[in-house]
Amino acid sequence: MADSTAVVWFRRDLRLDDNPAWARATSEHDRVVALFVIDPTLFGAATPRRTDRMLGDLRALDERLATVGGRLKVRTGDPRRIVVDEARAASAVTVLANADVTPYAAGRDAAVADALSSAGIEWSTEWGTLVHEPGRVRTAAGTLSQVFTPFHRTWARTSWNAWPLPGDAAVADDPGDGVPAPAGPYPSLRPLAGDEARPGEEGALARLEAAAARADAYPDERDLPAIVGTTELSIDLRFGTLSPRTVAMVVGDATPGRAAVVRQLAWRDWYAHLLFERPELVDAPMKARYSRLAWRDDEAGFVAWRTGRTGYPFVDAGIRQLLATGWMHNRVRMVVASFLVKNLLIDWRRGERWFRHVLLDADVAQNVGNWQWVAGTGPDASPYNRVFNPVLQGRRFDPDGEYVRRWVPELAGIAGDAVHQPWEIGPLELAAAGVELGVDYPAPIVDLGESRARVLAAYAAARD
Ligand SMILES: Cc1cc2nc3c(=O)[nH]c(=O)nc-3n(C[C@H](O)[C@H](O)[C@H](O)COP(=O)(O)OP(=O)(O)OC[C@H]3O[C@@H](n4cnc5c(N)ncnc54)[C@H](O)[C@@H]3O)c2cc1C
Repeated sequence: MADSTAVVWFRRDLRLDDNPAWARATSEHDRVVALFVIDPTLFGAATPRRTDRMLGDLRALDERLATVGGRLKVRTGDPRRIVVDEARAASAVTVLANADVTPYAAGRDAAVADALSSAGIEWSTEWGTLVHEPGRVRTAAGTLSQVFTPFHRTWARTSWNAWPLPGDAAVADDPGDGVPAPAGPYPSLRPLAGDEARPGEEGALARLEAAAARADAYPDERDLPAIVGTTELSIDLRFGTLSPRTVAMVVGDATPGRAAVVRQLAWRDWYAHLLFERPELVDAPMKARYSRLAWRDDEAGFVAWRTGRTGYPFVDAGIRQLLATGWMHNRVRMVVASFLVKNLLIDWRRGERWFRHVLLDADVAQNVGNWQWVAGTGPDASPYNRVFNPVLQGRRFDPDGEYVRRWVPELAGIAGDAVHQPWEIGPLELAAAGVELGVDYPAPIVDLGESRARVLAAYAAARD
């Protein structure tokens, strides 16, 4: 289109590579405004740590845009108003964005599309946050598979959309209000050095290279929270400093370890496709009968859980890792979530909302999908009668107790795997380790056997 301007509205795609909206706008138009709107609704729901991470990534995007002669234009306020204002001010013919699957994003985008349409401006979306967009991976009957394994099989065979290459449109150089200064350093889930510590797309690529180099060990190490056994790329995927396709391409499938990493991206796509198709899953159990579950109203239990004071060291270590870093290892997420839902019989939605607030990688589709999986209410979920035993899980996946001692320092004096069960240690030995149960560290807040019987009865009643 000759002599035309487009606005690219960045959201959770804070990069220029493999960014379909950016590529299309810069190829099809002469001039492009790169816009980011700080939405107080979303900002207000984030922890300062997540805000800082995003601001670091926005600064990096601004610097990257400077290399093509432009700036990131930042405005704060309701995107329903601001996007239209900016498009008008730029005399843009169109606004492009990469779509998202959450009900909030869908409602917001529909409102923006309406406002743009009233102003005679086009609205157009691409998919840039998933390997395959919703609707592309189908069963023979044309539906979205409700079981993961066949979904994955088709997913892996499905060809990719063409790699989007940016064009040479001029990029506007008005920074608007500019990127606000972060309150602290760029957060990472552990200390990183060199390029890996850098924000934005370039840092993310260095983190990806490092993760790809570890990928062969993934099958053996992915369940061991004391070591760096997973890619730790979920935060980059959440903010879109990396596209999942870049991860899949760089990691590849040359070895079983590499293929196992890429398979996890199929889970990510699957949960996004499910939420896109059924937005009510944010609140409603996928298996309708479980809407009858009689959850317990246990405020003290919920507080003990979310402060890492349940008396079960593996659970408490996970929550403390989350509180300290904004991230928790996947194996421990499963055990911690199971403890809330099964042992405390507290509604999974309370846990999901709190995780969504605290996690740096908080992603509604992934969070809801995984919580429903643990609760046994979701598609292809963990069987309802599977109740993770936090002591056995700890012994198995943290065999030396190193992870627990790192995150629950009051138990650091207890050697070996005995740290998973401090109440079994004799009083003299405990005293020698500097621990008085109920004083320095809580006694278990529930009995595992009794709470297991209680949850099985509750699920059985809901199934009747
Ligand atoms: C209760 C619960 C809540 C969760 N909430 C979130 C969330 O809000 N955001 C989020 O990104 N992940 C969530 N997960 C999934 C998983 O725990 C994280 O993606 C993973 O721990 C991130 O670490 P990693 O990047 O090292 O993962 P890796 O094991 O290296 O996996 C590579 C990538 O694959 C994807 N992936 C891995 N496991 C899963 C999974 N089970 N479901 C979907 N995608 C997966 C992630 O994008 C991840 O970055 C949750 C899991 C549970 C049990």
